[in-house]
Amino acid sequence: MTARPPFAALRGRTPEDCFGRLATPCYILDEAALRQNGEILKGVADRTGAKLLLAQKAFSNYDCYPALAPYLAGTEASGLFEARLGWEILPEKEVHVFCGAYRDDEFDELLRYADHVVFNSPAQLSRLGPQAKAAGKSLGLRINPECSTQEGHAIYDPCAPGSRLGTTREQWDAKMTPDLVALLDGLHFHTLCEQDSDALEITLDAVAEKFGDVLPRMKWLNMGGGHHVTRPDYDIPRLERCIRFAQETWGVTVYLEPGEAWALNAGFLASRVLDVTENGSVKNAILDCSAACHMPDVIEMPYMPPLYGAAEGSGSRDQGSGDDNSNVYRLGGPSCLSGDVIGDYEFDHALQIGELVLFGDLAIYSTCKNNTFNGMPLPNIWYRRADGSLEQLTDFGYRDFKYRLGR
Ligand SMILES: *Cc1c(COP(=O)(O)O)cnc(C)c1O
Repeated sequence: MTARPPFAALRGRTPEDCFGRLATPCYILDEAALRQNGEILKGVADRTGAKLLLAQKAFSNYDCYPALAPYLAGTEASGLFEARLGWEILPEKEVHVFCGAYRDDEFDELLRYADHVVFNSPAQLSRLGPQAKAAGKSLGLRINPECSTQEGHAIYDPCAPGSRLGTTREQWDAKMTPDLVALLDGLHFHTLCEQDSDALEITLDAVAEKFGDVLPRMKWLNMGGGHHVTRPDYDIPRLERCIRFAQETWGVTVYLEPGEAWALNAGFLASRVLDVTENGSVKNAILDCSAACHMPDVIEMPYMPPLYGAAEGSGSRDQGSGDDNSNVYRLGGPSCLSGDVIGDYEFDHALQIGELVLFGDLAIYSTCKNNTFNGMPLPNIWYRRADGSLEQLTDFGYRDFKYRLGR
């Protein structure tokens, strides 16, 4: 099974043809693309015996969970609400949770939903672990192998110096009493972000070096997320060698909990051009969607989402076109934020008012991160079923803006 580029799901039709009747802006989630990702991920599980979880923080559009259900062993949650959502929608699947710190006043309820509870520190394990153990849960500790394999994205590097995420070996030696170690069923690490399996291999070496002595007494090892498995050039055989290495060396069940990989290139954001303005050599197209509100990672990460009909790499987020006659446009939102810019894109024609523009790869970290800053409406979310039919999943309006601010 080969992976898909961002617009393969259109199957040769134009955006106007597929989505022209939908009110913009709107997100469209693509069932067939989700299933194709699921097939790739399930292939890893089938060939290795590893268990694959959906990290819901990346993609929590639960109407789509049934499409992914055949491919996953369970869901992973960042806290109480996501744990509850995974438990509600896929009650027959495993529910795993990792949180930087659990609250005493939520913990009883969390234990109703979670099967695996991963703690961030020996202190949290000591404070809440006995209660979770008594409730029959499988307990883990997140370790920090202190092995950074990414450059440039410090906010996505849990191994950055001084990181609050995960327990270092030094802290393990200082704080993990035999009683605490005895509470543990597994170890968890999450250090990658959109990375290939060579970074996992390097990380696993660091895990072996730092925690290899304690792993044989564990039942499982959770290798976190950030594995870009469904990206077309991802090295899957190397991932499978890493999984087998852990299984054979330490006798552990291996879990992976990718978020992105499940819904990579499986969603769109459709928008229309509201205005075109010029300032010096820069042509600005103002869209009815916003980077800041509807794709915040474009600004946070930062990155440029693929755009239908615009050559990839044709533009940048911070350079002008420098050429008055070109069809390079700086696409931005109608908000008051000057930095509400998606990027500079080159088209093969002059943009028209009312024209539909379609961004790709906007299922992940988009619908679950959007906001109503500037009173921007939330884009509705549509589900494009495998047969091409479109179902509206949401009906957002003024109330969704107003009632998160007061009564
Ligand atoms: C973010 C996160 C994931 C998912 O990461 P992706 O980059 O979306 O694959 C998994 N586990 C933990 C603990 C995370 O914080």
